[in-house]
Amino acid sequence: MATQKVLGILGGGQLAQMMALAAIPLGIKCHIYEPDPLAPARLCAIHHCAPYDDEAALRQFAAAVDVITYEFENVPVDCGTFLRTLKPVAPGIAALRICQDRLLEKTFARDLGFTTAPFVDLVASLTSADAIAAVGLPAILKTRRLGYDGKGQQTVHTIAELDTARACYEGHPLILEGFVTFAHEVSIIAARAADGTTVRFPLIQNTHHHGILRTAVAPAPCSTKGLEQDADRMMQTVMHAFGYIGVLSIECFVVETTQGPTLVINEFAPRVHNSGHWSIEGARTSQFAYHVRAVTGLILPDVTLHGVAAMCNLIGDEPDDSEIPPDVFVHRYHKAPRPRRKVGHLTMVSSTHDNVTHLLQHCAQLLGVKIS
Ligand code: ATP
Ligand code: MG
Repeated sequence: MATQKVLGILGGGQLAQMMALAAIPLGIKCHIYEPDPLAPARLCAIHHCAPYDDEAALRQFAAAVDVITYEFENVPVDCGTFLRTLKPVAPGIAALRICQDRLLEKTFARDLGFTTAPFVDLVASLTSADAIAAVGLPAILKTRRLGYDGKGQQTVHTIAELDTARACYEGHPLILEGFVTFAHEVSIIAARAADGTTVRFPLIQNTHHHGILRTAVAPAPCSTKGLEQDADRMMQTVMHAFGYIGVLSIECFVVETTQGPTLVINEFAPRVHNSGHWSIEGARTSQFAYHVRAVTGLILPDVTLHGVAAMCNLIGDEPDDSEIPPDVFVHRYHKAPRPRRKVGHLTMVSSTHDNVTHLLQHCAQLLGVKIS
């Protein structure tokens, strides 16, 4: 009989929920470590409900599992470092440390030779005029840490606006980014095993609304052979630099240049990504199954898509089941409705982009959202 590993997941949100659901058919059971007693993943994994700095609870968690991963990059580095002394942690601590700080992340990307938005470390001694002179206008002020779904950021158009925005975030380390005029937004999602074997989904095209991911389509309609090659090179370089094990996601802007479209890195996510949720139904091996396989030492099968897929997030509230077309897959996260909160998603899979776009438009109409 195959050895059945037990996987520990730090965090218990919907990403952990979908990871645990993907782990079960692989013969792997999951434990989650999550301070929120109502965490979505408690429904399909054993829940260790304690704060991230509770050493005794962390020890108990580590003793119950064979390997530890995380579903979000804001797990305190100290917690990861402590757990690493007890059980293997994948992806490694370097990825966790760098990806949870926008300044370290952008510097890391730039040092590897990739293009990012222009950025400056908005230290208190730097005047708003000098910061803007460095990155241009409009610019986006972002907290270095803990931002997600557009939280912790503000677009500014003048020096005065930047002064005001800085005052709102006093005490938080900040960066200022120049605005990237992009043609499209895409993400790259790949998995790497401990022996360096890597598999990658084709580029995924994303739309955002008020900083929150709204839709994802795979393969990306805007993709070209050149962009896929660039995505490969970028992924290989970044994963190699981290000595990465697991799924890594890179959010990029596609910028038109005289040499054709190019990729500009926006941010890394050292984990499964919202723009990859379509892969549950749209691919033979989903991003969740790849992640579980990679961190538990199973082989990574080649990427096989079942056609063209699209995903639409359910934000704030959920439609009734009777409202959802029968050929659309629904995923609910068991979260209380709240404005701007991701509470579920819809997935559609078909043989052509036209069919999928049609279904996506239909769902958007149902949800009362405009998608471009
Ligand atoms: P996530 O939920 O993906 O972690 P986040 O809150 O960390 O999001 P970003 O990904 O940095 O934030 O920004 C959210 C969205 O805001 C981007 O997908 C993009 O649409 C827009 N955006 C962010 N930075 C820039 C930029 N420098 N130029 C243009 N648009 C930007
Ligand atoms: Mg983002």
